[in-house]
Amino acid sequence: FLSFDELLNHWAKESPDQIALEMGERTTTYGEADVLTRQLIALFRENRVGHGDRIAWLGKNSDRYFLLLYAAARMGAVIAPVGWRLAPPEMAYILGDTGTKVLFVEEGFIDTASEVTAAMENAPKVLEAEAAFRMAKDMAPADYQPAALDDPILQLYTSGTTGNPKGVGLSNRNMFSLRKPSMDVAVPWQTYYEDDCILAAMPCAHIGGTGLSAIATSAGIRALVLPEFTPDGVLRAIQSGTTHMFLVPAALQFVIQHPLAKETDFSRLRYLMYGAAPMPLELLKQAVATMPQAGLLQVYGMTETCGTVTMLPPEDHSLEGNERMRSAGKAVPGVEVQIRSEDNSEVPRGEIGEICIHSPSNTAGYWKLPEATANTIDSDGWLHTGDAGIMDEDGYVYIQDRIKDMIISGGENVYPAEVENAIFGHPAVAEVAVIGIPSAQWGEEVKACCVPKPGMEIEAGDIIAYARERIAAFKAPKSVDVIPEMPRNASGKILRRQLRAPYWEGQD
Ligand code: ATP
Ligand code: MG
Repeated sequence: FLSFDELLNHWAKESPDQIALEMGERTTTYGEADVLTRQLIALFRENRVGHGDRIAWLGKNSDRYFLLLYAAARMGAVIAPVGWRLAPPEMAYILGDTGTKVLFVEEGFIDTASEVTAAMENAPKVLEAEAAFRMAKDMAPADYQPAALDDPILQLYTSGTTGNPKGVGLSNRNMFSLRKPSMDVAVPWQTYYEDDCILAAMPCAHIGGTGLSAIATSAGIRALVLPEFTPDGVLRAIQSGTTHMFLVPAALQFVIQHPLAKETDFSRLRYLMYGAAPMPLELLKQAVATMPQAGLLQVYGMTETCGTVTMLPPEDHSLEGNERMRSAGKAVPGVEVQIRSEDNSEVPRGEIGEICIHSPSNTAGYWKLPEATANTIDSDGWLHTGDAGIMDEDGYVYIQDRIKDMIISGGENVYPAEVENAIFGHPAVAEVAVIGIPSAQWGEEVKACCVPKPGMEIEAGDIIAYARERIAAFKAPKSVDVIPEMPRNASGKILRRQLRAPYWEGQD
């Protein structure tokens, strides 16, 4: 099965009483989800939302959002979740860019929605989500023409780490072609059991939050929705039987450092996927030590690849000096990965180049950005990630960071993630980001920006010496800034361009 439509039909017949979605006290079974999504399609019709039309969601993570997604995906409307942490002009940008006809809003965001739409030229109709669901429940389930596999059904915006967020269209095929559950014991991480439960803890405006719905729906299991990430919310979900989840490294750090972590029973957590940003090795070791029974899976992917395309399995997470723990793993079945040079030819194993992906999960392109699409996707369908990486003889990929973030210092290439990794273990450092700043002598010079642990002092010379013991002198920082807080976006990624800006004013 390759679509929400086929899967909902299937599970409504096979296991109608199985819970599809759970949020707080509220549950929706697969049988109910089947009917309710058909009723939502009737509601869409009444609001003149047809095939190819756009709707949007403004709210925290919600079972309501996922039902709207399933309904849109069945009939080929396109849903765009708008990050609730965005500023009003950013929200207006997404609503305008998508050409949203109807905006579904969670109650707590009604004022925000009014403010945002009041300033828009072609403002969408605003429907409060609970009221809309009540209306839908009074309607007759609609008949409809199911979406074609390649019709866009979801438009997610990239995290905006390196520049303005770009709209990425994703189809049913993109969502499901790599997520087929397997009953093969050789692929344990793709084998699901009836009482498995996957937690949606990361924001649904990003692939790391929304993508899990494809796993849940293809496996016919329960998705537990956490309105927003909190470390204790995640720990409670683990305690109450969550078997699968995805967290970004920054979130994982909060979870394992939370006082409740020591008392939590991690034994039912089968797989904890982490990724979306570089994982400091020290933090990964702490995670393995905190939850030795849980299977840790590093995943690498991007909005444009509809999430995971490479994966490091639990068996490569042993604590005994395992080099593989630094890797983002191998291509998942169905995906091809190549490391290419600037002339677009594959580089030999062990050499650095751009990570390029060929996958049925790849987007057809960016929304209304033909130039960016042409620069990213080859004529032969390979997607250029903008990430630098190395592949070893066994096909393991080592991500070296983004090509855009690479620092060229004295003619040598320095990747921030490697330097950050070297500093992360310092006892006084809670968080660290490495940037390049202008230097008359070196062209660019490595600078570390460190957030101290509570009550600790950071001394620049000490950090520089610590780094020099661990990495080559040219990679070690020449200077250190102590900052109170790390600038991050909603995807938990460090905004290096924000740290860099004051140094490059008038120079870039
Ligand atoms: P923008 O494209 O707007 O600058 P973004 O690239 O952060 O934002 P996403 O699509 O959310 O938007 O993130 C994809 C990127 O996240 C990848 O290109 C890569 O740089 C990074 N990433 C994903 N997984 C990993 C991982 N396991 N290790 C290191 N980096 C990762
Ligand atoms: Mg990107």
